[in-house]
Amino acid sequence: MTTDHVIDEADRDALRAKYRAERAKRIRPEGNDQYIEPTGRFAHFLDDPYVTQTPREPINRDVNVAIVGAGFAGLTSGARLRQAGVEDIWLIDGAGDVGGAWYWNRYPGAMCDTAAMIYLPLLEETGYRPSMKYVPAAEIFAHAQRIATTFNLYENALFSTAVSGLTWDEDSERWHITTSRGDLLRARFVLAGTGPLHRPKLPGIEGLETFEGHCFHTSRWDYAYTGGSRSGEPMTLLADKRVGIVGTGATGVQCIPHIARAAGDLFVFQRTPSSIDVRNNAPIDPAWYDALPSGWQYDWLTNFATLQTGGFANQDYVMDGWTDISIRIRDRVVANLATEGLTPEAMRKAYEESDDEKMAEIRARVSAIVRDPATAEGLKPWYRQLCKRPCFHDEYLDAYNRDNVHLVDTDGRGVERVDATGVWVGDTHYPLDCLIFASGFEVGTEYARRAGFETIGRDGETLSDHWSKGMTSLHGLNVAGFPNFFLLGFAQAGNLFSNVTHNFVESGTTTAAIIRHALSTNATRVEVDPAAEEAWVALVETAPTSFLFDPECTPGYYNNEGQEMTTKTLRQTRGYPEGPVAFFSYIDRWRTSGDFTGLRFS
Ligand code: NDP
Repeated sequence: MTTDHVIDEADRDALRAKYRAERAKRIRPEGNDQYIEPTGRFAHFLDDPYVTQTPREPINRDVNVAIVGAGFAGLTSGARLRQAGVEDIWLIDGAGDVGGAWYWNRYPGAMCDTAAMIYLPLLEETGYRPSMKYVPAAEIFAHAQRIATTFNLYENALFSTAVSGLTWDEDSERWHITTSRGDLLRARFVLAGTGPLHRPKLPGIEGLETFEGHCFHTSRWDYAYTGGSRSGEPMTLLADKRVGIVGTGATGVQCIPHIARAAGDLFVFQRTPSSIDVRNNAPIDPAWYDALPSGWQYDWLTNFATLQTGGFANQDYVMDGWTDISIRIRDRVVANLATEGLTPEAMRKAYEESDDEKMAEIRARVSAIVRDPATAEGLKPWYRQLCKRPCFHDEYLDAYNRDNVHLVDTDGRGVERVDATGVWVGDTHYPLDCLIFASGFEVGTEYARRAGFETIGRDGETLSDHWSKGMTSLHGLNVAGFPNFFLLGFAQAGNLFSNVTHNFVESGTTTAAIIRHALSTNATRVEVDPAAEEAWVALVETAPTSFLFDPECTPGYYNNEGQEMTTKTLRQTRGYPEGPVAFFSYIDRWRTSGDFTGLRFS
């Protein structure tokens, strides 16, 4: 356990020096390569523990639309296509059902800390009222199923089916899709909703494969081993077990209180503590909800996106930790305006000042909750809040007051070695029955690697080659040389990280408008004009580099693990220069104008 000397929170120079020293402990020269890919002898970490695959005959046929990925990106697009009257839509997903991240992540305590009113897409269209301000994963998964049912997307769904290749066939003007089940679908249009946090990664710890106890990644929770269920039944089979967990990001923070209650002993191997702010969950009042005016969700989405990006609104509808962060920064900029002006430097200073205040509060909260002073010191984050994904939880810190919970603070080094019986940190061996990896997902690696297949466009060019110098697109959605192909994401578009589903609903609406236009004009092909793509990329490159990439930030997936951001890495992180609200308004005008400038229909 390390205890740091007490920092005078008001002494900014000392604080900066402390931040730099903590960062230096964590920088790994190998960056993203420090993680182990779940392939080869680690491939079993991806096995689906939730369904048994039923054999079926391979499918060989023409289809109108294929959607790769049945998470919220694919589902919202499917819904918008149905609303536009498009038929013959096929969902393809490696999972056993719809839901994407919410199919896979069933770990105890899993929930979404973006408010359900804005995170759950198409609430008005499906007539659903969320139970709480922040809802558990099972409720989110059920909502994904509700969207699929409401919009008849189960009709042609291929589950437990991984796409293995996607190749444009110039003669038929169709995409040839091959799968792990031996299918060959020839699709007129393909939508790729493969998700931003889809592919689990494992910590690069020496000897990981030698562990002879039980071991799994949080996105493949093994309730057969732990007992209990995703709906909250206690994990009684852990009562006599020594459990270790590696990872204290958003996932670790949510599941640790639950494992703490169930396990004989829990050892939390911490490399970097998360910032844990107040969660303050509450039920949604049905009467209040039912009285909301028609169109309320669009207003809430716009309100949140406005406040999240430093804008002004009469009211903060969502009122959560995310808007609190942004409003603090914005108000500080306004307060400093008279003395500092509105320069990038003034904005940065305002951000730093409000962040210093917030992080002092976060560290004080640790001391107020965690009784053992050394443990409390170990749990204090020494970096700016937005260097890492901020967390919001009301039980996490208290879990460390239990006698059976042991914080093993590795002082930034991480676990050194795993052997057959446990884990080594420094000279100490921790014998374990079970080792759980809450080690996150690949971000920033090549698109084809994360998607699990290569996309080969017109002229035989792969998407990886096309993007060898970085992502290129029109609106983040269409790519020159890849006809009838739609990427459902947020990069080079709205880029609203804190409410990812808002981006998905928008890209779904745009995709449906384009495909509807193609079908109604009997066009068999939609292509991006390369000049339009070039101009769009040039435009997004004028966007200011996010302060998330601050070179003084502690490393993590927000900042390419602290490695230099190259043109290539920056391109997949950029959005519309004027921000998401302006982008959503721009793209709405673009898709409703009927001109579809930048696309060629033939
Ligand atoms: P993260 O990538 O955020 O965290 C991975 C954790 O593993 C970090 O604590 C990391 O430490 C640790 N780690 C990695 N390698 C080692 C090692 N060798 N030794 C010790 N520790 C190690 O993954 P999560 O699954 O927690 O979260 C991923 C994302 O998923 C979130 O950021 C969020 O966007 C999303 N999510 C959203 C939720 C929601 O409520 N909406 C809930 C859960 C997840 P270090 O920090 O030092 O790198």
